[in-house]
Amino acid sequence: MAKKIVSDLNVKGKKVLIRVDFNVPMKDGVITDDTRIRAALPTIEYVINHGGKAIVFSHLGRIKEEADLKKNDITPVAKRLEELIKKPVKFVNATRGKELEDAAKNLKEGEILMFQNTRYEDLDGKKESKNDPELGKYWASLGDVFVNDAFGTAHRAAASNVGIAANVSETAAGFLLEKEIKYIGGAVDNPVRPYIAILGGSKVSDKIGVIEALLQKADKVLIGGAMMFTFLKAMGKNIGTSRCEDDKLDLANELLQKANGKLVLPVDAVVNKAFEDVKGVVKSVDDFADDDMGLDIGPKTLELFAKELAGAKTVVWNGPMGVFEMKNYAAGTIGVCELLANLKDANTIIGGGDSAAAAESLGYADKMSHISTGGGASLEYLEGKELPGITCVDNI
Ligand code: ADP
Ligand code: MG
Repeated sequence: MAKKIVSDLNVKGKKVLIRVDFNVPMKDGVITDDTRIRAALPTIEYVINHGGKAIVFSHLGRIKEEADLKKNDITPVAKRLEELIKKPVKFVNATRGKELEDAAKNLKEGEILMFQNTRYEDLDGKKESKNDPELGKYWASLGDVFVNDAFGTAHRAAASNVGIAANVSETAAGFLLEKEIKYIGGAVDNPVRPYIAILGGSKVSDKIGVIEALLQKADKVLIGGAMMFTFLKAMGKNIGTSRCEDDKLDLANELLQKANGKLVLPVDAVVNKAFEDVKGVVKSVDDFADDDMGLDIGPKTLELFAKELAGAKTVVWNGPMGVFEMKNYAAGTIGVCELLANLKDANTIIGGGDSAAAAESLGYADKMSHISTGGGASLEYLEGKELPGITCVDNI
């Protein structure tokens, strides 16, 4: 079902509550990557350019004790937003109270207000994260309509998403959330085939749900990354000292049985004797020595993946193919980036924090149809689970 988008709202003269994902990485109070702030600009700009009064808020980090407050003060984010959007951003250093209420009331058309980290409310009984009904109602009372643009937290019901949505007349998706729904939701509900999934990264255990779901939905599931070794060991191969989850061997076997030939495993790997960034040796997965550690997929595997990907119309990729952070073990991940970049008329979707970072740092971000902004949320969405932060948006 189609969802209401911010551009479907009449925002003129209205106080528009905008939940964004400004959970940016910070070091000693300095923002180290402002991608998430930049990504939210189109939604905020739309609202203010159409005469809306923007009330912007986000969580930042986790708040468990008093000492976490200072570390996760969102003031620097409000400052950066001001620089990026080139408009004043009025900041209220509180999550409730008279100053905030007055600021919201006095906001004029085209103005922007931001308030403190929504998770400051977690200090008092996890009110934000556990969706305390009074809190959602209170935040809703500050505005007229609600726009959710925070995909990264859409898999959790919080006061700042579903809590507000339950108490306003209209809820719409922001442009970022719209894109997630279009691409990931599209792959889940109605993928154009052939539909190929590529899974890698560190652990099978993190991704059991998504492997099972994709084995049902996709035409093939290509496996790389450290997780390949749990499968290869389950098949009886010697994997040397490669990373493996021994307690998941039975599960890996079960998945191999259920897969009905849909699981495609690497045929070679780049190995080293230790976990360090020196040139490795390419070996067949049948020829590992006891002290070999597999750190990337090999060139024959890339050829195999190229064959499987030929003609693909939907590709979902989660998890790097090797230790891409080391230049000697980045070739597999670069190779898969290349393969996706060269597909014609395909929807190429990357989900997962490290995979997204890999595509970006290797220079392929603009070659993909969509790079998801949520790690956990994109995995749960791909699994076919209902995401509360999307469900709470009005249907059109
Ligand atoms: P994502 O965040 O995209 O879901 P993960 O967090 O599951 O991905 O995994 C990413 C990590 O997996 C990277 O830090 C990468 O170095 C590591 N990795 C990939 N292949 C291997 C391997 N063969 N051995 C050890 N670590 C690996
Ligand atoms: Mg990760």
